[in-house]
Amino acid sequence: MEGQNYDLLIIGAGPAGLTASIYASRYKIKHAVLGSLPGGTITEAHKICNFPSEANINGWDLAQKIESNARQLGAEFMTSEAVAISGQYPNFAVELASGQVLLTKSILLATGTKRRHLGLDNEQQYLGKGLAYCATCDGPFFKDKLVGVLGGGNSAATAALYLADIARQVYWFYLGDRPEAAEPSWLEEIDKRANIKHYPNVKVNQLLGDNHLTGVELINSDHQTSQLNIDGLFIEIGSDPATGLLQQLNGQINDRGYAIVDAGQATTVAGVWAAGDATSNSNGLRQIITACSEGAIAADSIFRFLKKN
Ligand SMILES: Cc1cc2nc3c(=O)[nH]c(=O)nc-3n(C[C@H](O)[C@H](O)[C@H](O)COP(=O)(O)OP(=O)(O)OC[C@H]3O[C@@H](n4cnc5c(N)ncnc54)[C@H](O)[C@@H]3O)c2cc1C
Repeated sequence: MEGQNYDLLIIGAGPAGLTASIYASRYKIKHAVLGSLPGGTITEAHKICNFPSEANINGWDLAQKIESNARQLGAEFMTSEAVAISGQYPNFAVELASGQVLLTKSILLATGTKRRHLGLDNEQQYLGKGLAYCATCDGPFFKDKLVGVLGGGNSAATAALYLADIARQVYWFYLGDRPEAAEPSWLEEIDKRANIKHYPNVKVNQLLGDNHLTGVELINSDHQTSQLNIDGLFIEIGSDPATGLLQQLNGQINDRGYAIVDAGQATTVAGVWAAGDATSNSNGLRQIITACSEGAIAADSIFRFLKKN
Protein backbone atom coordinates (compact mmCIF):
# COMPACT_ATOMS: atom_id res chain seq x y z
CA MET A 1 0.00 0.00 0.00
CA GLU A 2 1.30 3.49 -0.85
CA GLY A 3 1.47 6.16 1.86
CA GLN A 4 3.38 7.41 4.80
CA ASN A 5 3.45 6.12 8.34
CA TYR A 6 2.43 8.25 11.30
CA ASP A 7 1.89 7.41 14.95
CA LEU A 8 -1.10 9.76 14.91
CA LEU A 9 -3.17 11.40 12.20
CA ILE A 10 -5.32 14.31 13.39
CA ILE A 11 -8.27 14.82 11.04
CA GLY A 12 -9.60 18.37 11.44
CA ALA A 13 -7.67 21.63 11.69
CA GLY A 14 -10.02 23.59 13.95
CA PRO A 15 -9.42 24.49 17.62
CA ALA A 16 -9.70 20.83 18.75
CA GLY A 17 -7.30 19.41 16.15
CA LEU A 18 -4.81 22.29 16.42
CA THR A 19 -4.68 22.12 20.21
CA ALA A 20 -4.22 18.35 20.04
CA SER A 21 -1.33 18.96 17.64
CA ILE A 22 0.33 21.40 20.06
CA TYR A 23 0.19 18.77 22.81
CA ALA A 24 1.23 15.94 20.46
CA SER A 25 4.27 17.94 19.30
CA ARG A 26 5.33 18.52 22.88
CA TYR A 27 4.85 14.79 23.59
CA LYS A 28 7.01 14.12 20.47
CA ILE A 29 4.29 12.05 18.81
CA LYS A 30 5.00 11.72 15.08
CA HIS A 31 1.84 13.17 13.61
CA ALA A 32 0.21 15.18 10.84
CA VAL A 33 -2.85 17.46 10.83
CA LEU A 34 -5.28 17.12 7.99
CA GLY A 35 -7.95 19.77 7.52
CA SER A 36 -10.22 20.76 4.66
CA LEU A 37 -10.81 24.18 6.29
CA PRO A 38 -7.59 25.40 7.97
CA GLY A 39 -8.48 27.09 11.27
CA GLY A 40 -11.89 25.42 11.34
CA THR A 41 -15.31 26.96 11.87
CA ILE A 42 -14.09 29.91 13.95
CA THR A 43 -12.73 31.45 10.74
CA GLU A 44 -16.42 32.25 10.07
CA ALA A 45 -16.98 34.14 13.36
CA HIS A 46 -16.58 37.90 13.02
CA LYS A 47 -16.34 38.61 16.73
CA ILE A 48 -15.27 36.37 19.63
CA CYS A 49 -15.60 37.82 23.14
CA ASN A 50 -15.55 34.67 25.30
CA PHE A 51 -12.11 33.17 24.76
CA PRO A 52 -10.21 33.82 28.03
CA SER A 53 -7.13 35.50 26.54
CA GLU A 54 -9.07 37.75 24.13
CA ALA A 55 -11.49 40.56 25.00
CA ASN A 56 -12.64 40.90 21.40
CA ILE A 57 -11.04 39.18 18.44
CA ASN A 58 -12.04 38.29 14.91
CA GLY A 59 -12.43 34.52 14.41
CA TRP A 60 -9.97 34.44 11.56
CA ASP A 61 -7.28 36.15 13.69
CA LEU A 62 -7.80 33.75 16.60
CA ALA A 63 -7.60 30.74 14.25
CA GLN A 64 -4.36 32.13 12.79
CA LYS A 65 -2.86 32.52 16.26
CA ILE A 66 -3.69 28.93 17.28
CA GLU A 67 -2.53 27.55 13.94
CA SER A 68 0.73 29.48 14.06
CA ASN A 69 1.45 28.10 17.56
CA ALA A 70 0.79 24.57 16.30
CA ARG A 71 2.92 25.05 13.17
CA GLN A 72 5.93 26.51 14.96
CA LEU A 73 6.18 23.30 17.03
CA GLY A 74 6.91 21.48 13.79
CA ALA A 75 3.75 19.52 12.95
CA GLU A 76 3.08 18.58 9.36
CA PHE A 77 -0.07 20.18 7.89
CA MET A 78 -2.12 19.10 4.89
CA THR A 79 -5.06 21.07 3.47
CA SER A 80 -7.02 18.11 2.31
CA GLU A 81 -10.18 16.11 2.94
CA ALA A 82 -10.19 12.55 4.31
CA VAL A 83 -12.82 10.57 2.43
CA ALA A 84 -12.36 7.05 3.79
CA ILE A 85 -10.86 5.22 6.76
CA SER A 86 -10.24 1.51 7.07
CA GLY A 87 -8.21 -0.91 9.15
CA GLN A 88 -7.71 -1.30 12.88
CA TYR A 89 -5.15 -0.41 15.52
CA PRO A 90 -2.20 -0.20 14.81
CA ASN A 91 -2.78 -0.24 11.04
CA PHE A 92 -5.24 2.38 9.86
CA ALA A 93 -5.38 3.65 6.27
CA VAL A 94 -6.83 7.11 5.60
CA GLU A 95 -7.69 7.94 2.02
CA LEU A 96 -7.62 11.58 0.93
CA ALA A 97 -9.80 13.21 -1.72
CA SER A 98 -6.72 13.24 -3.99
CA GLY A 99 -6.53 9.44 -3.80
CA GLN A 100 -3.39 9.50 -1.63
CA VAL A 101 -3.45 7.02 1.27
CA LEU A 102 -1.86 7.80 4.65
CA LEU A 103 -0.98 5.03 7.08
CA THR A 104 -1.19 5.64 10.79
CA LYS A 105 -1.20 3.78 14.10
CA SER A 106 -3.87 5.98 15.69
CA ILE A 107 -6.42 8.62 14.67
CA LEU A 108 -7.96 11.68 16.29
CA LEU A 109 -11.20 12.81 14.69
CA ALA A 110 -11.61 16.56 15.25
CA THR A 111 -13.98 17.06 12.36
CA GLY A 112 -16.45 19.51 13.93
CA THR A 113 -19.86 20.04 12.40
CA LYS A 114 -21.48 20.71 9.03
CA ARG A 115 -23.90 23.58 8.42
CA ARG A 116 -27.55 22.56 8.24
CA HIS A 117 -29.36 23.47 5.03
CA LEU A 118 -33.00 24.54 4.79
CA GLY A 119 -34.03 21.64 2.61
CA LEU A 120 -36.07 23.71 0.14
CA ASP A 121 -36.17 22.51 -3.47
CA ASN A 122 -34.50 25.53 -5.04
CA GLU A 123 -31.94 26.14 -2.26
CA GLN A 124 -28.98 25.00 -4.33
CA GLN A 125 -30.06 27.22 -7.26
CA TYR A 126 -29.69 30.42 -5.17
CA LEU A 127 -26.44 29.48 -3.45
CA GLY A 128 -24.05 32.37 -4.14
CA LYS A 129 -26.92 34.23 -5.81
CA GLY A 130 -28.43 35.80 -2.72
CA LEU A 131 -28.38 32.73 -0.46
CA ALA A 132 -25.47 32.22 1.94
CA TYR A 133 -24.45 30.18 4.99
CA CYS A 134 -21.64 32.39 6.31
CA ALA A 135 -22.21 36.07 7.13
CA THR A 136 -18.51 36.84 7.63
CA CYS A 137 -17.63 35.34 4.26
CA ASP A 138 -20.46 36.75 2.13
CA GLY A 139 -21.80 39.71 4.15
CA PRO A 140 -19.63 42.34 2.40
CA PHE A 141 -21.48 41.65 -0.88
CA PHE A 142 -24.66 43.09 0.64
CA LYS A 143 -23.62 46.68 1.33
CA ASP A 144 -26.72 48.90 1.74
CA LYS A 145 -29.01 45.99 0.74
CA LEU A 146 -31.96 44.31 2.44
CA VAL A 147 -31.02 40.98 4.01
CA GLY A 148 -32.71 38.28 6.07
CA VAL A 149 -31.14 36.07 8.72
CA LEU A 150 -32.84 32.78 9.56
CA GLY A 151 -32.27 31.03 12.91
CA GLY A 152 -32.65 31.64 16.63
CA GLY A 153 -29.22 30.81 18.09
CA ASN A 154 -25.87 32.51 18.61
CA SER A 155 -24.73 32.09 15.00
CA ALA A 156 -27.87 33.84 13.78
CA ALA A 157 -27.56 36.59 16.42
CA THR A 158 -23.92 37.33 15.57
CA ALA A 159 -24.69 37.17 11.84
CA ALA A 160 -27.50 39.74 12.32
CA LEU A 161 -25.14 42.04 14.23
CA TYR A 162 -22.39 41.72 11.65
CA LEU A 163 -24.78 42.34 8.77
CA ALA A 164 -26.36 45.35 10.52
CA ASP A 165 -23.06 47.19 10.01
CA ILE A 166 -23.11 46.49 6.27
CA ALA A 167 -26.69 46.15 5.06
CA ARG A 168 -29.37 48.86 5.09
CA GLN A 169 -31.87 46.61 6.84
CA VAL A 170 -31.66 43.20 8.52
CA TYR A 171 -34.78 41.09 9.01
CA TRP A 172 -34.30 38.40 11.65
CA PHE A 173 -36.58 35.35 11.19
CA TYR A 174 -36.91 32.75 13.93
CA LEU A 175 -39.33 30.32 15.58
CA GLY A 176 -40.85 31.25 18.94
CA ASP A 177 -41.57 34.63 20.53
CA ARG A 178 -37.89 35.29 21.34
CA PRO A 179 -34.66 33.81 19.96
CA GLU A 180 -34.26 31.70 23.10
CA ALA A 181 -31.08 29.91 22.02
CA ALA A 182 -29.08 33.15 21.66
CA GLU A 183 -26.93 34.53 24.50
CA PRO A 184 -28.55 37.47 26.37
CA SER A 185 -25.43 39.60 25.72
CA TRP A 186 -25.92 39.32 21.96
CA LEU A 187 -29.64 40.11 22.33
CA GLU A 188 -28.79 43.23 24.32
CA GLU A 189 -26.53 44.44 21.50
CA ILE A 190 -29.18 43.60 18.90
CA ASP A 191 -31.79 45.63 20.80
CA LYS A 192 -29.58 48.71 20.32
CA ARG A 193 -29.55 48.36 16.52
CA ALA A 194 -32.29 50.29 14.78
CA ASN A 195 -31.83 48.43 11.50
CA ILE A 196 -32.48 44.90 12.84
CA LYS A 197 -36.16 44.04 12.67
CA HIS A 198 -37.45 40.91 14.45
CA TYR A 199 -39.76 38.46 12.70
CA PRO A 200 -40.73 36.01 15.50
CA ASN A 201 -42.72 32.81 14.96
CA VAL A 202 -41.96 32.44 11.25
CA LYS A 203 -40.42 29.90 8.92
CA VAL A 204 -39.05 30.55 5.45
CA ASN A 205 -41.42 28.61 3.25
CA GLN A 206 -40.15 29.49 -0.21
CA LEU A 207 -37.24 31.23 -1.88
CA LEU A 208 -38.38 33.66 -4.57
CA GLY A 209 -36.64 35.10 -7.62
CA ASP A 210 -35.43 34.23 -11.11
CA ASN A 211 -31.71 34.11 -11.58
CA HIS A 212 -31.03 35.82 -8.21
CA LEU A 213 -32.93 35.67 -4.93
CA THR A 214 -35.34 38.61 -4.68
CA GLY A 215 -37.49 37.62 -1.74
CA VAL A 216 -38.91 34.96 0.55
CA GLU A 217 -42.30 33.61 1.39
CA LEU A 218 -42.78 33.36 5.16
CA ILE A 219 -45.27 31.24 7.04
CA ASN A 220 -46.28 32.07 10.60
CA SER A 221 -47.51 29.87 13.45
CA ASP A 222 -51.14 30.44 12.30
CA HIS A 223 -50.17 29.06 8.86
CA GLN A 224 -50.61 32.47 7.22
CA THR A 225 -48.15 33.25 4.44
CA SER A 226 -46.63 36.60 3.45
CA GLN A 227 -43.94 37.71 1.03
CA LEU A 228 -40.97 39.96 1.78
CA ASN A 229 -38.52 41.45 -0.71
CA ILE A 230 -34.88 40.87 0.24
CA ASP A 231 -31.59 40.84 -1.66
CA GLY A 232 -29.96 38.17 0.47
CA LEU A 233 -30.78 35.44 2.96
CA PHE A 234 -28.32 34.03 5.50
CA ILE A 235 -29.21 30.55 6.79
CA GLU A 236 -28.03 30.11 10.38
CA ILE A 237 -30.09 27.15 11.60
CA GLY A 238 -27.39 25.16 13.30
CA SER A 239 -25.20 22.28 12.30
CA ASP A 240 -24.84 18.52 12.48
CA PRO A 241 -21.80 16.55 13.68
CA ALA A 242 -19.35 15.39 11.02
CA THR A 243 -19.00 11.81 12.21
CA GLY A 244 -19.21 9.95 8.88
CA LEU A 245 -15.59 8.76 9.15
CA LEU A 246 -16.19 7.28 12.61
CA GLN A 247 -19.23 5.47 11.27
CA GLN A 248 -17.09 3.92 8.54
CA LEU A 249 -15.20 2.18 11.37
CA ASN A 250 -18.48 1.21 13.07
CA GLY A 251 -17.75 3.64 15.92
CA GLN A 252 -20.74 4.47 18.12
CA ILE A 253 -22.62 7.75 17.79
CA ASN A 254 -25.50 9.01 19.93
CA ASP A 255 -29.08 9.58 18.74
CA ARG A 256 -28.11 13.06 17.45
CA GLY A 257 -25.09 11.78 15.55
CA TYR A 258 -22.33 12.94 17.95
CA ALA A 259 -19.35 10.65 18.58
CA ILE A 260 -19.66 8.78 21.86
CA VAL A 261 -16.39 9.20 23.76
CA ASP A 262 -15.16 8.40 27.27
CA ALA A 263 -13.58 10.87 29.70
CA GLY A 264 -10.24 10.50 27.85
CA GLN A 265 -11.97 11.22 24.48
CA ALA A 266 -11.55 7.61 23.27
CA THR A 267 -14.27 6.47 20.87
CA THR A 268 -15.63 2.93 20.94
CA VAL A 269 -13.02 1.95 18.28
CA ALA A 270 -9.60 1.00 19.69
CA GLY A 271 -6.95 3.45 18.48
CA VAL A 272 -9.47 6.15 17.50
CA TRP A 273 -10.22 9.27 19.57
CA ALA A 274 -12.55 12.19 18.90
CA ALA A 275 -12.52 15.79 20.20
CA GLY A 276 -14.40 19.05 19.79
CA ASP A 277 -17.82 19.89 18.36
CA ALA A 278 -18.23 16.40 16.84
CA THR A 279 -18.41 14.67 20.23
CA SER A 280 -21.00 14.15 22.96
CA ASN A 281 -18.67 15.45 25.71
CA SER A 282 -18.34 18.85 27.48
CA ASN A 283 -21.98 18.76 28.48
CA GLY A 284 -22.97 19.75 24.96
CA LEU A 285 -21.27 23.16 25.21
CA ARG A 286 -19.77 23.41 21.72
CA GLN A 287 -17.36 26.29 21.91
CA ILE A 288 -13.71 27.06 21.18
CA ILE A 289 -12.61 26.59 24.75
CA THR A 290 -14.26 23.17 25.10
CA ALA A 291 -12.92 22.07 21.69
CA CYS A 292 -9.38 23.07 22.76
CA SER A 293 -9.86 21.29 26.07
CA GLU A 294 -11.06 18.05 24.47
CA GLY A 295 -8.18 18.23 21.96
CA ALA A 296 -5.67 18.50 24.82
CA ILE A 297 -7.27 15.62 26.75
CA ALA A 298 -7.31 13.44 23.62
CA ALA A 299 -3.62 14.08 22.86
CA ASP A 300 -2.72 13.21 26.44
CA SER A 301 -4.73 9.96 26.28
CA ILE A 302 -3.15 9.05 22.94
CA PHE A 303 0.34 9.69 24.35
CA ARG A 304 -0.32 7.33 27.27
CA PHE A 305 -1.91 4.73 25.00
CA LEU A 306 0.96 4.72 22.50
CA LYS A 307 3.52 4.56 25.30
CA LYS A 308 1.78 1.60 26.95
CA ASN A 309 1.27 -0.29 23.70
C1 LIG B 1 -20.65 31.97 13.11
C2 LIG B 1 -20.07 31.27 14.31
C3 LIG B 1 -19.66 32.01 15.41
C4 LIG B 1 -19.10 31.37 16.52
N1 LIG B 1 -18.70 32.12 17.57
C5 LIG B 1 -18.11 31.54 18.64
C6 LIG B 1 -17.66 32.33 19.75
O1 LIG B 1 -17.81 33.55 19.78
N2 LIG B 1 -17.06 31.67 20.79
C7 LIG B 1 -16.88 30.31 20.80
O2 LIG B 1 -16.29 29.78 21.75
N3 LIG B 1 -17.31 29.54 19.77
C8 LIG B 1 -17.92 30.12 18.69
N4 LIG B 1 -18.38 29.35 17.65
C9 LIG B 1 -18.25 27.87 17.77
C10 LIG B 1 -16.83 27.41 17.41
O3 LIG B 1 -16.53 27.86 16.11
C11 LIG B 1 -16.73 25.89 17.51
O4 LIG B 1 -17.15 25.46 18.77
C12 LIG B 1 -15.30 25.40 17.27
O5 LIG B 1 -14.81 25.87 16.04
C13 LIG B 1 -15.25 23.88 17.30
O6 LIG B 1 -13.95 23.46 17.01
P1 LIG B 1 -13.65 22.02 16.37
O7 LIG B 1 -12.17 21.97 16.21
O8 LIG B 1 -14.32 20.98 17.15
O9 LIG B 1 -14.37 22.01 14.95
P2 LIG B 1 -14.26 22.99 13.71
O10 LIG B 1 -13.76 24.32 14.10
O11 LIG B 1 -15.58 22.91 13.02
O12 LIG B 1 -13.15 22.33 12.80
C14 LIG B 1 -13.38 21.11 12.14
C15 LIG B 1 -12.26 20.88 11.17
O13 LIG B 1 -12.40 19.57 10.61
C16 LIG B 1 -12.22 19.64 9.21
N5 LIG B 1 -12.84 18.47 8.60
C17 LIG B 1 -14.10 18.00 8.76
N6 LIG B 1 -14.25 16.83 8.06
C18 LIG B 1 -13.05 16.60 7.48
C19 LIG B 1 -12.57 15.57 6.64
N7 LIG B 1 -13.34 14.54 6.26
N8 LIG B 1 -11.28 15.64 6.19
C20 LIG B 1 -10.47 16.66 6.59
N9 LIG B 1 -10.89 17.68 7.41
C21 LIG B 1 -12.16 17.63 7.83
C22 LIG B 1 -12.82 20.98 8.86
O14 LIG B 1 -12.45 21.40 7.58
C23 LIG B 1 -12.21 21.83 9.99
O15 LIG B 1 -10.86 22.12 9.71
C24 LIG B 1 -18.94 29.96 16.53
C25 LIG B 1 -19.36 29.21 15.42
C26 LIG B 1 -19.93 29.85 14.33
C27 LIG B 1 -20.37 29.03 13.13
